[in-house]
Amino acid sequence: MDTPRPFAPRPEPLDEDRYGDDHPGDQHPGDEPDAVDDSVGRHRVMVPEPAPLTDHGPARVIAVANQKGGVGKTTSTINLGAALAEYGRRVLLVDFDPQGALSVGLGVQAHELETTIYNLLMERAAEIDEVIRPTTVEGMDLLPSNIDLSAAEVQLVTEVGREQALGRAIKPVLDRYDVILIDCQPSLGLLTINALACADSILIPLACEFFSLRGVALLMDTIDKVTQRLNPDLQILGILATMFDPRTLHTREVRQRVVEAFGDLVFDAVINRTVRFPETTVAGEPITTWAPTSNGAEAYRMLAREVLAR
Ligand code: ADP
Ligand code: MG
Repeated sequence: MDTPRPFAPRPEPLDEDRYGDDHPGDQHPGDEPDAVDDSVGRHRVMVPEPAPLTDHGPARVIAVANQKGGVGKTTSTINLGAALAEYGRRVLLVDFDPQGALSVGLGVQAHELETTIYNLLMERAAEIDEVIRPTTVEGMDLLPSNIDLSAAEVQLVTEVGREQALGRAIKPVLDRYDVILIDCQPSLGLLTINALACADSILIPLACEFFSLRGVALLMDTIDKVTQRLNPDLQILGILATMFDPRTLHTREVRQRVVEAFGDLVFDAVINRTVRFPETTVAGEPITTWAPTSNGAEAYRMLAREVLAR
C-alpha cells in the first residue's frame, strides 16, 4: 500500500488564476471560439470541445520526449493525460524514466513497488494487469516505474529486438485505451528509442528559454533515424512551449523563434511558468483537480483539445 502523503493544504488563489493580467495569446475559459492572433502574430483558431466517445480504443501512442531535463515532460504527461480523461478519453500514462517522477507526481511511492514496468520488459511471465494501477483521476491509469528501470537499459542491450521491448509490453492493452502517453527520460538512450519505436507520434515540450532550441536538432536527427530504421510511421505530433513567462520579453522572443522554426507544428496552447506545477507534485495530483480553474489547468485542456483534433 502507498504511505499517506504529507498533508498538502488546498491552494490559495493566485493573481494569475484570476486571469488578472491579460496577455495576447493567453487562453481564458469562455474565450470566444473565434480566430485570434496570438502573441507571435499567428492566426490561431480555438479548437472545439471533442465529442464524447461511445466506445474505446485502439490507443494512439504518444511519446513525450526531449533529451533536455526540466522542460516539462513529466508535468505535461500528467496534466495532458488528466485533461484527456476529463474529456472522457481512457488514458494510460507510462512512466518510462527510472527517476519515477511521473509515478511520484501521481502520489505513488515508486521505490516501494514490487512490480513495475521493469518486470514487463525483462520477464516473459510478467502480467501487465498486475503492474497497471488506477490514479486519482477517473479514466486514467498508470504503468509505474522506479530505479529498477535503469537496469533494464543495460540488460536490454544484449537482447534481440531490444528496441521493441516497450512495444511488446504495452501491446496487450492497446485496445483498452484511447491514448497512451509515454513520459521519456531526459536522454536519447535505448529507453527513449523504445518509446519512439512503439509510438504513433512524439510530443516535444520545449522550455521558452535561451539555448532550449540547441538540442532540438539532435532530437530531430534521432527521430529521423527511428523513422528510417524502426518505425516508418512515427510522426511529430507537435511542439509545446512550456515555462512561458508572459512578463518577460525574452521568453516571448524564444517562443517567436520556435514558431519561426517549426510553424504549425507548434501547439497554440502555451504553458506558463507558475508555482502551481511544483505544488501539484507535492499534492500528488494533476493541476486539473488541484487548481481546476487555474490558467495552467485551462492551458492543458486546450492542449488536450488540440491533440484530439490533430
Ligand atoms: P522534465 O520531465 O522534462 O524533466 P518536469 O515536468 O519534471 O520536467 O519539470 C521540471 C520541474 O519544473 C518540476 O519541478 C516541475 O514541477 C516544474 N515545472 C514544470 N512545468 C512548470 C511550469 N509550467 N511552471 C513552473 N514550474 C514547472
Ligand atoms: Mg521527467
